[in-house]
Order: sequence, then C-alpha cells, then structure tokens
Amino acid sequence: MENRVLEDVIALSLKLGDPANDLAILAEGNASGRVDSDHFYVKASGYSMRTMTAEGLTLVKFAPILQALNGPDLSDAQVRDLLSECRAEGNQAPRPSVETFMHAYLLSLPGVQYIGHTHPTPLISLLGIAGCEEIATQRIFPDEIVCCGPATAFVSYTDPGLPLARAIQSSVERFVEVHAMIPKTMWLQNHGLIAIGKSVGDVESATFMGIKAARAWLGALSTGRELRPLSPENVARIHTRPDEHYRQELLWTMKQRS
Ligand SMILES: [Zn+2]
Repeated sequence: MENRVLEDVIALSLKLGDPANDLAILAEGNASGRVDSDHFYVKASGYSMRTMTAEGLTLVKFAPILQALNGPDLSDAQVRDLLSECRAEGNQAPRPSVETFMHAYLLSLPGVQYIGHTHPTPLISLLGIAGCEEIATQRIFPDEIVCCGPATAFVSYTDPGLPLARAIQSSVERFVEVHAMIPKTMWLQNHGLIAIGKSVGDVESATFMGIKAARAWLGALSTGRELRPLSPENVARIHTRPDEHYRQELLWTMKQRS
C-alpha cells in the first residue's frame, strides 16, 4: 500500500508539474496521498513537481498535524518544529511542505485519497477578478459538473500554512452544509486550485477540467456581453444531489475525524 501510494503521488506530481501543462513552475504546488489512517505522503519543502522522485516526498503522521489544526495559533518557529517532528521516518527525511496542514485536513475527509494543488495561470487570472467567489458557485458547461462537482468551494485569500488550512476547513464545512457532499475542487483566491479525489485519475480530471472551465470563463468575460452560465435546474439534472440523511452522516463523520 505504502509503495503504491508513493508511486501514485510521484506520477501525479510529474503530471501536474509537466511544463507543457502550465500548472506549476519551480517549487510551486504540491501533491499528497493517504497511506493509511495514520500516515500520508506529501511533497517536501523546496522540491519541484516537474522532477519529482521518492526523495522529494515525506511520509508524515496525521495525528500531530491534525492536533495543531484544531489547537491554538503557533509561532513560525513552532510550525517549523512541528513540521520536523511529524516526519514518520525520522530526521533523514526532508521537511514536508508548509501546506502539509491543508493536505492532512483534506486527506482526513471521508473517501479522500489523493490531493493535487497547483497554480494554473488561467485560474490565477480568474481568481484575481472581483466577484470570482460567485463564479465558483456557477457552472459553464456539463462536463465541468461531472469532473468538478456542482460547485467549487471558495477560500478567501489568507497566509499559507496553518491559517490557509483553517480557512479551507471552514470553507469545506460550509460547502457540505449546502451541497451534502465534499467538494471535488477548491479555488484559493489570488493563489490557485486544489483538486481532491479517491484516485489520481479523479484529481487529474478535476484539475484539467477545472482549468478548462477557468479558460471558458475568461473567454466569456472578455466579450463584455451578458453571461449565461448553466441554470441551477440544468446543474441539478446532471448532478444527483445526495439526501438529507447522507448530509447529516457526512457532517458527523467529519466532526469525529477533526
Ligand atoms: Zn500554492
């Protein structure tokens, strides 16, 4: 299991870091995968997804990171110490990315196995437009609903690391209240995209379809004409909304885990 997840996260990183895809350059972005209920792999700080190997991924323990997420604020030095201590394979392993906090939270959600976080140029353009939070709630073409869900969770701009992970947690909880499901994609204002899923394939299709949607929005906005996204009825016909019982169960499971 451990090796398969490691291989999957390497493959996902290489795909997301491929320069031809324009999703991340230098050390931008990160990917992760859950090994079991106690451990996950995440990109180490300073490594590039474009050239990812096993060396650039660190096996991390969920418990200390999730505890910090729900605990008091930490100083930069305390965060650094925690990112050193959470390594499951000791001091030889490189220190994990500062975004380990958001990966731990998202990988602890029911049914989530892999995460891809990128900075795609067209999406950064869209996320720099006033009112982009409203666009996150809309859909512009049917396959966007299939791959990215009926809406995208929106996270207002905040500092990276622990504050961002906490903002993501609030956004996901609000999303579950409204949509009775965990979001497949998240837009981080003035920052980028997060795609989550059961498989590497889910993360890739949510990422690439999400970017196609961002391009479609930019094209539509550039015309200056009135916008016409899919109606809520059309979105609902493609996306089958889970029932109230499922929503309550999901919220309960999430509270138990956090
Ligand atoms: Zn980022």
